[in-house]
Amino acid sequence: MELRPPGWRESLSDRHNFILETSPMRRVYCDANATTPLAPEVLEAMRPYLMEESGNASSIHLEGQRARKAVEQARETLAGFFKCREAEVVFNSGGTEGDNTAIFGLVRAGDHLITTAIEHSAVMRAADRVAERGAEVTFVAPRPDGRIEPEEIRRALRPTTKLISVMLANNETGVLQPVEEIGRIAAEAGAYFHIDAVQGAGKVGFDVRRFGCHLCAISAHKIHGPKGVGAMYVRRGTPLEPLLVGGSHERRQRAGTENVPGIVGLGKAAEVAMEALTDGTMERLAALRDRLETGILEIAGTAVNGAGAPRVANTTNLRFDRLEGEALVIALDLKGVAVSGGSACHSGSTEPSHVLLAMGLNKRAARASLRFSLLRTASDEDVEQVLRVTPQAVKHLRALAPEEAAVSAEDESACRYGQ
Ligand SMILES: *Cc1c(COP(=O)(O)O)cnc(C)c1O
Repeated sequence: MELRPPGWRESLSDRHNFILETSPMRRVYCDANATTPLAPEVLEAMRPYLMEESGNASSIHLEGQRARKAVEQARETLAGFFKCREAEVVFNSGGTEGDNTAIFGLVRAGDHLITTAIEHSAVMRAADRVAERGAEVTFVAPRPDGRIEPEEIRRALRPTTKLISVMLANNETGVLQPVEEIGRIAAEAGAYFHIDAVQGAGKVGFDVRRFGCHLCAISAHKIHGPKGVGAMYVRRGTPLEPLLVGGSHERRQRAGTENVPGIVGLGKAAEVAMEALTDGTMERLAALRDRLETGILEIAGTAVNGAGAPRVANTTNLRFDRLEGEALVIALDLKGVAVSGGSACHSGSTEPSHVLLAMGLNKRAARASLRFSLLRTASDEDVEQVLRVTPQAVKHLRALAPEEAAVSAEDESACRYGQ
């Protein structure tokens, strides 16, 4: 190991570079809800469109028409995925854009928006922004098991309610939300209904008609597709104002030259994801997740957040009493296991998860919680490795004085952001 100057403090990226360069250790990636690697068949499908098939899908020459054909084939696949018409599929840059488009595209000053206290920040921050601009927003709290009670949505309705936005599956706990019931409530109230389905996509069956939604956002990189591309279902006749204007791409719903390789990759990823729903992959993942939970729960002072609710197969959110989750993330990382302390969008901040706080956990309990989210390709060996290293790491961290752990966590964030 090289020598560090006195007073030198390691930053997170220094530490990661050091690990990356020196560690021959087998890595177990348990952070699929943050992002997933490309499936090999997705890369194969994209490759020609990154290289020789590089036409602009809006050009009329042969090169353009070949790109157009690829985009329209992907649209057909996505229509099968959402179970909607091809004309109701809009390609965009991912989940954040889909969520932002739904909220900014429908909610004006004076309108009322109902969403929940457990949404992804792509919905939460958009809701905050329309509130600043004169809309009214209600954030419905979940039950302690992380599930939104549809009746609470009904109670929040006002004559001015324009949009209801509820996620399909929570990214931190994996808890599935009762979107069909909420869809019926929206229909009765004459409100539009948006679903952030980024974490439900590829994990549960999809049918936007059954969900009763007008809008539904998914993202390729959460389903083994490329980063920076996504799709949105927009029910015919929904008066959605585009977020981006310019060219007349995507039926004037989303300007900008089509990301042809990305769209082709999303199409392939959606195809593979649909297969994985029926070939036993989800049952296998659920069994691995259960094995992981059972193993961790053998450690004293642990619990599953959201245990009582229906959940997607790959996710578990575990609480380790008497330790700092962030410290355990780092300890497990050094042992070859990648997990996260909740949403990747908040990692690096020591703020406890808004999702867990909304479920009624106190700050200490929320900070003591970690998310393990398995890749579709997770193996028995992966779970066994996690179960080999975790009890040790927990024991070690708990042996440190809790006060000391809290102070050093504060120190570290001051060091990372201080200046
Ligand atoms: C990842 C995620 C998003 C954001 O998707 P991007 O494609 O990364 O912008 C939105 N909602 C949920 C629930 C997510 O997990």
